[in-house]
Amino acid sequence: MVGQIQIWENDPASSSLVKADKPNIKQLPFRYTFPPPALAPDPDTTSPNFRYWNAAEALRRGADFWGPAVPDQQWFGGPDLEVRLNVGTRWNANYDRRALNFYRGQLGPGSFVYAAGSADMLCHELGHAILDAVQPLLWNSGNAEAVAFHESFGDVSAILCALQIETMRNSILASTNGNIYCNSRLSRIAEQFGTALHTIFPDDADQDCLRNAWNPFCYAPPTSLPPMGPSSILTARSHSFSRVFTGAVFESLAGMLAVNPPATPDRLRDVTFEMRDIMIEAVRSAPVVPQFYASVAAKMVLAASARNGAYRAVFRDAFVRRLILSLEVAANILSSPTANDDTGFAVAPHTDRPTFSALPSSHYGLDKPLHIELPADPVGTAARSATRDGRSMAPLNVEEAVTTFVDRLFMRGRVDYGEFGGRDHKGGKAQNPSSGDSTHRLELVDDQLWLRRIRICCGQCMAT
Ligand SMILES: [Zn+2]
Repeated sequence: MVGQIQIWENDPASSSLVKADKPNIKQLPFRYTFPPPALAPDPDTTSPNFRYWNAAEALRRGADFWGPAVPDQQWFGGPDLEVRLNVGTRWNANYDRRALNFYRGQLGPGSFVYAAGSADMLCHELGHAILDAVQPLLWNSGNAEAVAFHESFGDVSAILCALQIETMRNSILASTNGNIYCNSRLSRIAEQFGTALHTIFPDDADQDCLRNAWNPFCYAPPTSLPPMGPSSILTARSHSFSRVFTGAVFESLAGMLAVNPPATPDRLRDVTFEMRDIMIEAVRSAPVVPQFYASVAAKMVLAASARNGAYRAVFRDAFVRRLILSLEVAANILSSPTANDDTGFAVAPHTDRPTFSALPSSHYGLDKPLHIELPADPVGTAARSATRDGRSMAPLNVEEAVTTFVDRLFMRGRVDYGEFGGRDHKGGKAQNPSSGDSTHRLELVDDQLWLRRIRICCGQCMAT
């Protein structure tokens, strides 16, 4: 018989505790491994035991939600994914293809905020692992929009996984009168962690959460955005830029719910399943071009239309309003709902092997050309984002997009040089690969120097 444990209904900031089935830690598929010792459940919310079981439940709930839609039924690296709940002190969490790593932020002497204390943080990191299992081509691509989409997928994961709790659905529908596209504890991702982070690093989080899915941000090419800035503006940093796509998905989720009133808890659960399937189908088939937002959005409109004709307008309007899709492209998708290769809106999984480029690298302090995986060539694809007047934007140049991406990585000190590079360039804080600050490292493969991703960071390490 399954026992029960107490968990936070969503985020510790809500102070709302509910009962949940005690998860089976060793369950397959999508098994987690927690470093020993296994701890006994404890209702004391400040105890490591409570955080252990709160995390185990959230991650199991998340894997049970996403798992049925993942074709290979396992993580990128195999059947097991390690979970490390308290790696050290910093405002961070990350996914590195082997593990989900959670840190604790320090507010003052003896005062800590645990990233793994929040189901939003847990299910955001889980989202990275799920997306990596579904579309591993995003991992090493020198593509700012692909990285930002990874972050958006994590936040959408937090929202959809939260809605798998019945009391959460009841509460959100009651507090929003059934229109869930509003500022609520559902839209506010990681309230406790974000609020605390904001007090230390005001640019890295909103005042009341890490990021808000209810937001007004519209698309602009990341190369045109400032490299950094306060959370009130859109910047090129992946977490900031991710909010454009998250907002469109959150609007679409609300729109799906409104298609068949009344908005009931069961109907809300059903649309989370539909959104899951639409997103997974889209990321599997979307070419990893520099305008990756438009690429995925076009596929999402197609996938949504195939499920329910009324969803076409819902998704089209959300993506067009935020300039993720141009009016022209949105119209073309809808005029060819069966989508064949001639339109450029094929629905087959996108599995092309990525091409690579060898970039000049002396300005990075390197004496060999630097190889990196390129985004896919947009020639032959039709999805385009919009200029401010709604017209189709010219395809972004692949070489320019990748060069800007790599320049910004080096500018922000996110590359672990390892044994390569001159002393002058290796200085700074990012040179200890175990520090958790680096997102990429240099590797020598067959006498070629490569830039490879080692982790995707979420928190104060927000550069890429
Ligand atoms: Zn993230």
